[in-house]
Amino acid sequence: MTTLVIATKNAGKAREYRKMLAPHDITVKTLADFPPITIDENGTSFEENATIKAQTVMRALNLPVMADDSGLVVDALNGAPGIHSARYAGDHDDAANNAKLLHELADVPDDQRTAHFHTTIVALKPDGAKLVANGRVDGRILHERRGENGFGYDPLFFVDSLGKSLAELTADQKNAISHRGAALRDFMARFPEWWRA
Ligand code: IMP
Repeated sequence: MTTLVIATKNAGKAREYRKMLAPHDITVKTLADFPPITIDENGTSFEENATIKAQTVMRALNLPVMADDSGLVVDALNGAPGIHSARYAGDHDDAANNAKLLHELADVPDDQRTAHFHTTIVALKPDGAKLVANGRVDGRILHERRGENGFGYDPLFFVDSLGKSLAELTADQKNAISHRGAALRDFMARFPEWWRA
């Protein structure tokens, strides 16, 4: 078994995952290498959605697959936008999503603006072997955007320990502390055992 499919069409994500998997002598493919597969992402948690993606692709291709699901969890909004982060206000419209977040938190004071980003990665093999990895980064939602880097809610997400928003970090600085970086490191630590099993 030498091929692993990453269930994403996002070139940036694919590049990052390929880089981490490079030492493992595995052929890494993405959804861009196959005819379109319809994925009905209707789960109620990050892990359920990542599992649905991995399972749908694994069944279609009969190959080992890894999939992820991420989002922003805001305490004062009872966990919203959560699994709906990409489509909170508009479909992958970062500006609209950020504007809605600021509006929803307009009357919420600083000490109650706590939040975290979460990522779950699920890998599945056709024989059923499953690997689940998680990562998070804690922070606070700012009152206005700061920084130009990154994507999504990065300009509104302030990391106290660095005194910066995620959008003020370089890609490497963000990977070192981010939910996705943490989940990927957790995943890679346990990957060899899952791959060999
Ligand atoms: P995905 O599951 O990784 O595609 O993430 C879903 C949505 O969560 C994205 O479309 C963004 O709105 C938000 N999100 C996930 N990760 C990040 C991040 O690192 N920075 C900012 N927003 C993010």
